[in-house]
Amino acid sequence: MENKRVRLRFAPSPTGGLHMGGVRTALFSYLFAKKHSGDFILRIEDTDQNRYVKGAEEYIIESLKWCGIEPNEGVGFGDGPHAPYRQSERKQSGIYKKYADQLIASGHAYYAFDTSEELDAMRKRLEAAKVAAPQYNSVTRQNMRNSLTLSEDEVKKLMDAGTPYVVRLKVPRNEEIRFHDIIRGWVVVNSTQVDDKVLLKSDGMPTYHLAHIVDDIEMEISHAVRGEEWLPSAPAHILIYRYLECEYKMPLLAHLPLILKTDGNGKLSKRDKSGIPMFPLNWHDERTGESYVGYRESGFFPEAFVNMLAMLGWNPGTTQEIFSMAELIEAFSLERVHKAGAKFDPEKTKWFNQQYLRKKPDSELAELFQPILEEKLKVFFAAINNQQPTTKYIEGVCRLVKEKSHFVNEFWNAGIYFFIAPTSYDADVIKKRWNEQSAGFIKAVAEAFKTIANFSATESEAVFKATAEAKGIATGQVMQLFRVCLSGVGGGPMLFEMVELLGKDEVVKRLETAAAKIKM
Ligand code: GLU
Repeated sequence: MENKRVRLRFAPSPTGGLHMGGVRTALFSYLFAKKHSGDFILRIEDTDQNRYVKGAEEYIIESLKWCGIEPNEGVGFGDGPHAPYRQSERKQSGIYKKYADQLIASGHAYYAFDTSEELDAMRKRLEAAKVAAPQYNSVTRQNMRNSLTLSEDEVKKLMDAGTPYVVRLKVPRNEEIRFHDIIRGWVVVNSTQVDDKVLLKSDGMPTYHLAHIVDDIEMEISHAVRGEEWLPSAPAHILIYRYLECEYKMPLLAHLPLILKTDGNGKLSKRDKSGIPMFPLNWHDERTGESYVGYRESGFFPEAFVNMLAMLGWNPGTTQEIFSMAELIEAFSLERVHKAGAKFDPEKTKWFNQQYLRKKPDSELAELFQPILEEKLKVFFAAINNQQPTTKYIEGVCRLVKEKSHFVNEFWNAGIYFFIAPTSYDADVIKKRWNEQSAGFIKAVAEAFKTIANFSATESEAVFKATAEAKGIATGQVMQLFRVCLSGVGGGPMLFEMVELLGKDEVVKRLETAAAKIKM
């Protein structure tokens, strides 16, 4: 094991959109591979043709690209030494059958001819006899039609007649199966709990159990990181490796914890009601007609999404929460992944986006905001007869509104008054603060502002305060009123920063309008 090159694969089945739990599996595999200067591979496990969903493969590739989780080998990312990377294509070389035949030859697998009616009847029989978990195993197989119960002749006859059959793993009775999981430590399972898994289906396609093992061996995979739902099948996989005499080639296993609902009550579902997406990108399932909103389209940054995912089940052992991809690679270890379910926190998810939003340069935010703004201004432009805002102005708005926002798509509502002069004024503030002196004071401020040569936050603040003082008014009494005259609302970004950005002419105009319009 020591000298084995670190190679991890992400092996999704194209049976639907890639749920964020799947993205996390890809992420953890990617981080581990990169940390150890290894390879990260995308393998498409498409052997279940009944569950194949059109567009799913493209969706997986696009999602990984958006997240910056880029495989260096695999479907959609360029061939490496182990191409092809789609199991349906790999099957053509007869590779899965070759391994299945080896298991049959060594007596560890067998042919089974049972029809679905016969299997149903067996299940019903066992249920009637109160068997808790009816399964095809070392006991029940003795009453079924397979190459262990039929004579060689009968088997040959059935084969020659083209009777459909599957290949099953011959799981021994009452044997202890031990294996090590990086996250869970030693796991011991009695073989009584393991069924005789189908390895090859009647259509000749391998099942996941056989196919992933063959491919992990052939692709020289060193570590298999996958979801907890695969833990119960792991003992069967151990047996397959053993019977293939390939135990030394077996990747180290790591089963990731489930992602749970916010209240910890059960597994997070695709239809979670938190309002936060469950899919990286918008996903429309052609088969079911269902649509899901994606993180990308909801205005999340991929860095924030990835950072949030990394914290779902892993922690760095410090209080640091914000990690770039490079920092994650540096800090990541599978040992620090915990086995208890990880609770999904919608508020925290938004918080992550906010942290990245605040750190983004205003120029980048302005670029993202521009198309939203253009749409809005198309609607409002005629009404206000305003001028198109300059890039510098838009950047200024981004700088001021980003502190209190989570997403760029909140900027318009947060800063609408930067583009449209107020037509009404916060009634509560007016009621509380407007008195017979107010109109005069606001007019005086407007007059005083006209005289400022270098109109800035500092200058305007000084002039504002001086005007109040000259009139014997405490600034605390008029600050919010002044803000409402400019923006219509009682809260917002730093007041005099806002004044500077709006500019002298606009500020004077708004103050004069307010002084004339607002009545007690
Ligand atoms: N095709 C399996 C899935 O989609 C892969 C599991 C594994 O990584 O081994 O869950």
